[in-house]
Amino acid sequence: MTRLVDEQEKKMKIKGVVGPNVSKVLREREKHIHEYITRPSGSPRYEVTSAKHSFVVDVEKKICSCGLWQLGGIPCVHVVCVYRSHNKNPRKYVHPILTKPTLLTVYSHFLESLRGPTFWTKSPYPDILPPELRVLPRKPKRCRQKDEI
Ligand SMILES: [Zn+2]
Repeated sequence: MTRLVDEQEKKMKIKGVVGPNVSKVLREREKHIHEYITRPSGSPRYEVTSAKHSFVVDVEKKICSCGLWQLGGIPCVHVVCVYRSHNKNPRKYVHPILTKPTLLTVYSHFLESLRGPTFWTKSPYPDILPPELRVLPRKPKRCRQKDEI
């Protein structure tokens, strides 16, 4: 019960749209945006190229050809490149399940506190007992006698 309260207090302290773990991931990805070149290729689509690879980003459908954005909900480095080239904050394009309002909703419910066992009403039914132990079938032990030979 205290864990739920602790988690809710942690989530209340979040500044910004996303939590600290998502922010850390995005900061790491933003460090590598200088390795890529972004070119528009049709209105919602962009081509992001590096020295080795080329990826297609569709900002309208929220798809990157590397698949990381669709898989984790956090914009990959290619998507970060596209949004940074338009001076937009990639944190706004994180999947809604990773945002602060959703986290607050998840931890908004608490368990009801209970009074001690002395205040509990006695059940009219008999106590539930554990099942009887039974020996399960298995391979019989070999009774080998060493003196037989
Ligand atoms: Zn990508």
